[in-house]
Amino acid sequence: MTSVTGFSIGIVGAGLSGLVAAEQLASSGHRVLVTERGSSPGGRLATRRIGAAFVDHGAQFFTVRSDRFRTDVDAWIEAGVVDEWCQGFDKVDGFPRYRADGGMSALARHLAERAVRAGATVATKVRTTAVIRGAVDWTLTHDHWVREPDEVDAVLLTAPMPESLALLAAGGVKPADPALADITYHRCLALLATVDPAATFTLPEAGATQQPADPAFSFIADNHRKGISPVPALTFHTAHALSAELWDASDKDVTARLVPSAAAAVGLEPSDFVDVQLKKWRFTGPVIPWPDRYAVAAGQPRPVLLAGDAFGGPKVEGAFLSGVAAATAITEFLTESPR
Ligand SMILES: Cc1cc2nc3c(=O)[nH]c(=O)nc-3n(C[C@H](O)[C@H](O)[C@H](O)COP(=O)(O)OP(=O)(O)OC[C@H]3O[C@@H](n4cnc5c(N)ncnc54)[C@H](O)[C@@H]3O)c2cc1C
Repeated sequence: MTSVTGFSIGIVGAGLSGLVAAEQLASSGHRVLVTERGSSPGGRLATRRIGAAFVDHGAQFFTVRSDRFRTDVDAWIEAGVVDEWCQGFDKVDGFPRYRADGGMSALARHLAERAVRAGATVATKVRTTAVIRGAVDWTLTHDHWVREPDEVDAVLLTAPMPESLALLAAGGVKPADPALADITYHRCLALLATVDPAATFTLPEAGATQQPADPAFSFIADNHRKGISPVPALTFHTAHALSAELWDASDKDVTARLVPSAAAAVGLEPSDFVDVQLKKWRFTGPVIPWPDRYAVAAGQPRPVLLAGDAFGGPKVEGAFLSGVAAATAITEFLTESPR
């Protein structure tokens, strides 16, 4: 099979999966446009500044299980972008957990720079609104005051599934497999707090605790001991059931409800928290991932693919592998339907 280049490909979402796919496709000689509604790339790789503090409030760390992910993680380590945080939080199990130097959004910036160096365009603050079928190609519409519609040969949608399906529905495209609509996500409330420098608090050696069975907080980290913040700043992630229970309450009520138990969990008083912020994550990770690394929403004559951490395996590694697999599949589709 002869490989073809020079197709135009629209990728919606500059999270991990979209950025990895963008670099791969641009490196193969395709024209790649990534639209990202946020003001910076990263999606759930997210770091927030609170005063002097830097706080990871989405993904906290990642692990490596596959050889394919290992290859790129080794390159990220070599580039000084990520390093090993620890080998277990509450007890050492010998299995490395990785952090990004400067926070998870720094990893996203690195990947966006690599995609741009390979020739891709990463357009932030552009919300794509619909995917519309043309005679052979596809039209992506965006918030109309920001960007004119783009005509592309192939599309990769990497937003969480309900959002990607909404883009298809807005363009009148029915996905090939209706079961895609059954993909649901856990929610998470992230309580973020800077701490009075005079106060001392308790966390295990690595500066974090992971308690999947705890009814209140599944993960608590001090971003200072993690090495990404010059001052102490805590991230508290609520357990799935508590996140669902509090989801519809106002930010003020959620914060008031969480602060006393958050402070107590690390041996502090609520008054030791200086600046407290809340981030609600509607799509944390899939409840049950789709069995394959990507899905074909529409295959003829040119493809629209769906990818992201809902496909083939969750979390950072799952999103990475899905982006790689989807980019490879798009190239194969285009090779089979040259102009
Ligand atoms: C609270 C929390 C904790 C987590 N903890 C961990 C952890 O410790 N370890 C781990 O491995 N994983 C963790 N994860 C999961 C991990 O962050 C994700 O699996 C991974 O980052 C998902 O990447 P993605 O590319 O699939 O999706 P995303 O990062 O969600 O990227 C999708 C992008 O699409 C953009 N977008 C959506 N709609 C549009 C549109 N219409 N137009 C333009 N852009 C659009 C979004 O803004 C977003 O940037 C956590 C996630 C959360 C939320």
